[in-house]
Amino acid sequence: MGGTVTINEDECIGCETCCELTPGVFQFDADSGKAKVVNPTGASDDEIQAAIDACPVTCISWE
Ligand code: SF4
Repeated sequence: MGGTVTINEDECIGCETCCELTPGVFQFDADSGKAKVVNPTGASDDEIQAAIDACPVTCISWE
């Protein structure tokens, strides 16, 4: 845990789970159909980790 959270958009399936769990960090981008990081410090590390753990394709990670 720690570092800067990032999404591998090639693997993201646009399920929006991370966006619903942590909207201050992740938001759905309708143009790409994928989530993106809008503010890497928009939630606590624990909250971000919960989104990482919930991603069904494990494409969110700490960099
Ligand atoms: S939880 Fe994972 S697959 Fe779902 S939108 Fe977020 S990054 Fe994409």
